[in-house]
Amino acid sequence: MSTTFQITDVAAQARTGRLVTPHAEIETPVFMPVGTVGSVKGVPQDILEELGAQIILGNTYHLYLRPGVETVRQMGGLHRFMSWDRAILTDSGGFQVFSLSELRKLNEDGVTFRSHLDGSSHFFSPESAMEAQISLGADIIMAFDECTEYPADLARVRTSMEMTARWAARSKKYFEAHKSEVPWGEVSGFEFQVSGGPSTRSSTPDTRNLAAELRSAGQPRAAVPTKGAQRPKGLLLREHATQALFGIVQGGMDRELRRESAERTVEIGFPGYAIGGLSVGEPRALTREIVESTLEYLPKDKPRYLMGIGNPEEIVEYSGLGVDMMDCVQPTRAARHGLLFTSEGKISIKQARYAQDPEPLDPNCGCRVCQRYSRGYLRHLFASNEILAQVLNTIHNLSFYLDTMRRVRHSILLGEESRSLSGIWSQPNVRRPRIQA
Ligand SMILES: [Zn+2]
Repeated sequence: MSTTFQITDVAAQARTGRLVTPHAEIETPVFMPVGTVGSVKGVPQDILEELGAQIILGNTYHLYLRPGVETVRQMGGLHRFMSWDRAILTDSGGFQVFSLSELRKLNEDGVTFRSHLDGSSHFFSPESAMEAQISLGADIIMAFDECTEYPADLARVRTSMEMTARWAARSKKYFEAHKSEVPWGEVSGFEFQVSGGPSTRSSTPDTRNLAAELRSAGQPRAAVPTKGAQRPKGLLLREHATQALFGIVQGGMDRELRRESAERTVEIGFPGYAIGGLSVGEPRALTREIVESTLEYLPKDKPRYLMGIGNPEEIVEYSGLGVDMMDCVQPTRAARHGLLFTSEGKISIKQARYAQDPEPLDPNCGCRVCQRYSRGYLRHLFASNEILAQVLNTIHNLSFYLDTMRRVRHSILLGEESRSLSGIWSQPNVRRPRIQA
């Protein structure tokens, strides 16, 4: 198996772990910034690296519509297309089909939908969603599911959950038969190089790192594709790497249906499990209740991914419950609206009170925005509708989320059982791993 998960520390229900994927080793619990169309809006890939993003998320629905999965496949897969050599996860497209597209028609085979871009008609099935995700080539891909709407009556939730279970089995069957088609190695002149060299596009492997790589031969390492490079012997450490397919638990807001969904998904057997269908309009207390009860039925030795959640308080809270992976558009979307998360609470930078404020956005943040710019300047950029406002705001918010997760991991490591929010945010800055230039 190409993807492995190892729990490194446990504090009460929370745990830290190491998720090893073909492209990167990920420390969990991890927050995954959302890069919808192969771009985390407003933030170049080198800055994502600087911020310490270990894995980002791509949306299959969006990439399928534009530029099209065939284009991405021809370009060597999403990593190479967007020049990102760390890990990527793609969703199955199910959630977007149900939330964005119009006139969807659902049956046992799959779902017919119209593009939100041009109204054209398309069809997704478990098989075609797997085919698309194999072509995109993310490290982790997701089973095709139906995201049940909220509210929904019990009979409707059951029907939907059972469909998701049958689709999970079909997703796995197709994936197992086609997983070798991932485009990581099919581009002419395509080779792998272990990252850490002076340039991921370098045509000669970095000899400085060679010794270290050879020393750790046999250990899975981040591998990046380079065109035309001669592959030094021993450097391709994950030669037969394949993607990992995760299952998704549905079942609406009913604890029994969630249990049944979890058990059926676990029975099919996946290297990781996601909890989907939450944060769809239900009260926050109910989200927590469902997450907590569903986690009980997921294997402790496999990564658990809570999809589409949440705000900074929630990512801390759910890490405390034993969730290992989370994603949310909140830090990036809120940033574009001038809403900034800080250690002292949420700030709406558009407010006139910041017009002449010389202080940094967050005195406890070490990000490049807080180190350099004042609240007054950020407020001016936002009021002037400057593109730079969106860029800087997004960088800070992502930095805040990623720092928060770093602190959560540090707390678990220290064995702190109760990770109160004030505790998390009053800790000294946990050192960010140095990123090589
Ligand atoms: Zn900052």
